[in-house]
Amino acid sequence: MTSVDVPRDPEVERVRRRYHRLLEEASDPHEWAYAWRTELNKGGFRAVDFLMSEIVETGKCIGCASCVTICPVDVFEYEDEHPVDARREACVYCVLCAEVCPVLRPVDKDLPRLVEFRPPATDEGFGRYSYGVYARATDPKILDRGQDGGMVSALIIHGLETGTLGGAVLGDVLPDNNQIGTHRLARTREDVLACAGSRYTYSPNTLALLEAMRNDVRPLAVVGVPCQVDGVRLQQNSSIRLEVADWYRDNISLVVGLFCSEAFTHESIAKLGEMIDVPPSRIVNINIKGKVVVRLDDGEVVTASLKKYREFARPACLYCLDYGAENADIAAGGIGLDDWTLTLVRTEAGHRAFQAAIDDGWIETRPLTDEPRGEELLRKLSAAKKKNRPLPAQMPTLQQRQALGWLDPKTFYTKGPGAPTDDGESR
Ligand SMILES: Cc1cc2nc3c(=O)[nH]c(=O)nc-3n(C[C@H](O)[C@H](O)[C@H](O)COP(=O)(O)OP(=O)(O)OC[C@H]3O[C@@H](n4cnc5c(N)ncnc54)[C@H](O)[C@@H]3O)c2cc1C
Ligand code: SF4
Ligand code: SF4
Repeated sequence: MTSVDVPRDPEVERVRRRYHRLLEEASDPHEWAYAWRTELNKGGFRAVDFLMSEIVETGKCIGCASCVTICPVDVFEYEDEHPVDARREACVYCVLCAEVCPVLRPVDKDLPRLVEFRPPATDEGFGRYSYGVYARATDPKILDRGQDGGMVSALIIHGLETGTLGGAVLGDVLPDNNQIGTHRLARTREDVLACAGSRYTYSPNTLALLEAMRNDVRPLAVVGVPCQVDGVRLQQNSSIRLEVADWYRDNISLVVGLFCSEAFTHESIAKLGEMIDVPPSRIVNINIKGKVVVRLDDGEVVTASLKKYREFARPACLYCLDYGAENADIAAGGIGLDDWTLTLVRTEAGHRAFQAAIDDGWIETRPLTDEPRGEELLRKLSAAKKKNRPLPAQMPTLQQRQALGWLDPKTFYTKGPGAPTDDGESR
């Protein structure tokens, strides 16, 4: 019998009714998340069916790949930024895939028990952190390859070459299209340099966790956008103590998150080519600095309107409320000073790795006060990503948004159908 022929588990309907009832009863996200987790942990149902019908088929899946990398019996494939339930019949009802989906529930309030946020762990609207600086690689080769200050690549190479890391889960590019991302388990300086720079399409970096686990590559760093960071934390923090979750908890020693307003569709690359009137194959790098800054293969730099490019933002990014990678050990972005990486050190593990690279002369820093606009933007962009947004579970499905004719994730809850009207109701 193929997986397609396996009848949908009738228990899933009961779980779905309970899930929606909990949502109505507990509007506080954490209270709700706790109640949901308790319900979920009773188990006894084919969670893959629940995940597919509640998240994937509704178009709410953000593509983080957590469900794929946690499944102990390899139920899923991953295609076109989504999990595919390729082997449903293999499901052992462990419910791990539903437990680690960041769209189904926010990361727990009890996360500090796992992640040691470093004092003073201030939260000024962009997540708990200890201190922030502008940072950049001192090695000109790393700086040159990096998207901003090359801090992320310098930190990872430093870890690999000093032995504090055995490998790193990064994003690479497809051989025939350098703007489309794919996952890579990096083991050497060359691997890391090949992955440096940002692609603004979605790159399923964390799929490389499977290779790391199978080959026991550790200690491991993970670099990813906030949805991937949350997925990793949920996997590490699982209350269902299966070997896979244990491996991630014990062996992922550093999680580096990239600030993220949104990612863009694959189609966006061809559209950008049209906007700047060059074949997309000539685009070497894209950076977003209030406008879209495009470097071409002959070194020429041209710009395009960010407002126009935003029409090609990934609709799924609506279901994400995290700009600053709030649950990472270190968070990094390109706002503020050009050619420097705005770096927030959030946890004790992040501090140890970052300070070691500074002490060994691999990374240099400047205070955030050198360009205060960086912090201002961080606050503003983080707030914008949460503004008016309820829990993803309470948001409309992709199909409902298509019917409303408003797919832009950035404006749905500010100017679009989700924005409050003058009397405080939704439009
Ligand atoms: C989709 C996306 C959206 C972003 N949005 C913002 C933003 O709104 N504001 C902001 O300040 N910064 C944003 N950034 C972060 C910024 O582009 C830089 O990644 C960050 O400043 C670190 O720069 P660096 O020079 O230190 O990194 P580098 O040394 O160049 O290392 C970058 C790392 O990013 C990884 N990577 C590349 N592309 C992807 C991808 N698509 N998904 C996951 N990992 C990837 C690579 O594996 C590499 O390890 C975004 C990044 C991405 C990928
Ligand atoms: S959001 Fe992540 S965990 Fe949830 S279904 Fe999609 S890929 Fe799986
Ligand atoms: S906006 Fe959120 S969901 Fe979209 S790519 Fe960035 S972190 Fe992931």
